[in-house]
Amino acid sequence: MRRIAFLVLALVAVGAGPPEGGYSVGIGPREGGRHERIDGGHHGRITPGPHVLHAQQHDDIGSPRAGAPLTILQLNDVYSTLPVDGAGGLARVATLKRQLAAEGRTPFLMLAGDFLSSSVASTVFQGEQMIAALNAAGLDLATLGNHEFDFGPDVLIQRMREARWEWVVSNVLDARTGKPIGGAAPYVLKTFGTLKVGFIGLCLASDGLTKDRLGRIRLIDPVEAAATYVPILKKEQAQVIVALTHLSFAEDRALAERFPEIDLIVGGHEHFPITAFEGRTLISKSGSDAKVVARIDVLRRETGAIARFHELIPMTSSFADEPETAKVVAAYEARLGPELDKPVGSAGVPLVGVASRLRASETNLGNLVADALRAEARSDVALVNAGGIRGDRVHPPGPLTRRALIEIHPFGNVVCTLSVLGRVIVQALEHGVSRLPAAAGQFPQVSGLSFQVDSAAPAGQRIRGVRVGDAALDPARTYTVAIPDFLLLGGDGYTMFASETVVVGPEDGPLMALALEKQVAGKEVAPRVEQRIVIDSPR
Ligand SMILES: [Zn+2]
Repeated sequence: MRRIAFLVLALVAVGAGPPEGGYSVGIGPREGGRHERIDGGHHGRITPGPHVLHAQQHDDIGSPRAGAPLTILQLNDVYSTLPVDGAGGLARVATLKRQLAAEGRTPFLMLAGDFLSSSVASTVFQGEQMIAALNAAGLDLATLGNHEFDFGPDVLIQRMREARWEWVVSNVLDARTGKPIGGAAPYVLKTFGTLKVGFIGLCLASDGLTKDRLGRIRLIDPVEAAATYVPILKKEQAQVIVALTHLSFAEDRALAERFPEIDLIVGGHEHFPITAFEGRTLISKSGSDAKVVARIDVLRRETGAIARFHELIPMTSSFADEPETAKVVAAYEARLGPELDKPVGSAGVPLVGVASRLRASETNLGNLVADALRAEARSDVALVNAGGIRGDRVHPPGPLTRRALIEIHPFGNVVCTLSVLGRVIVQALEHGVSRLPAAAGQFPQVSGLSFQVDSAAPAGQRIRGVRVGDAALDPARTYTVAIPDFLLLGGDGYTMFASETVVVGPEDGPLMALALEKQVAGKEVAPRVEQRIVIDSPR
């Protein structure tokens, strides 16, 4: 039993970890604004204990940032409460915050969106585990990212209620009330020591945010919202203006260009660290999964100039786990195992996931996975590399648990949607079958299309008779194609997608595991081999 339990944990860790291919796949008074004073000298809520581990260097008294009344700690795009590849972990972040407080700083932990989804744990808990861990870690202020809408507005509002931190959301409204969703403040004013700081919160209006995810939520153009609230912050005599954003870097730059009075953009969405100036505005993004935390000390010089000291702090094992946060994280991990053993649907037929067959021919499991991507993306066609479908066995008919689905796709890949010409689809298919008769991970499992293969022909000239739906493929027509982000990034040699138009990109797409779960949820599936891929049949 021990061994089984160990295997189970390993599977969960893989599922929640980085995806195949290395891409990181968690109100108040005064017109709705919030005014509050935080005294730099007292840290009522923060009680550093003996567990505090001093991995950080203390600043010299003469250090230029030593006198800063505000130390922002930035997170964005956090999908895992635990470390990923040895880095990150919210219990370590909690230690960093407590340690800074113990040194007499005023740490202010901010989260720039994307954390309720997507991860294996989030498919089970719908983000509740993230709220609980971030509550324990002592998050102070958050805004919304595109993934906060993945479970619809009702779950989002419930999660916003569970949070013990403040929300600043300037451009996401509840259409019923015309006010920011979930009782969030459209702007926040806080005083740190003698420094008065104003915050706005902006979420991107992404193509990935479809109507069914948004429901009654109304997104205002972020620049328009900034044009409403930045002047209010100035009128309220904020000495520092901070935009907590979940926008693309290009949008953040445009925001800084339009509003040079924004001193600092604490941003998200991109999953790699960015530290850049646009004009006088500092733009900071701290990667993903809390692998690094951006520390930004802010102070106002006597001249009135605002100084910002930026540092990226890697969240390695040199930071001990803060015990309370670690306890919350561990409790959800313990619940995750049994949750994964609950059936989500069932299979009416054996599902053929034997690698040698998946990688050289159409199989019914390949069709199920490709159909799941096409349904999720509502695209014309879908293409999945057979190497992305794992397990290497025939799954017997009967209940399908989440664990079985994770075994089928144990990576954190997401579904991307592209807009491509028909001839690019043919190129992709040619690449996919180019190693036949050898079995290869690049072999395509497809949905929404059918074709024949002449494996005796030279590689690159083997595809015949491609049909999309009921019609012959038109090489000059544009089609929407759903693929794993792995292929968009050139995985398994699929280089032809990199230069195509991305409709829903890696930062916006839903998890493949989640798409697969939706495909089987609450029903009995019986996918068949139906001549989507006919190899060397005489015609
Ligand atoms: Zn995002």
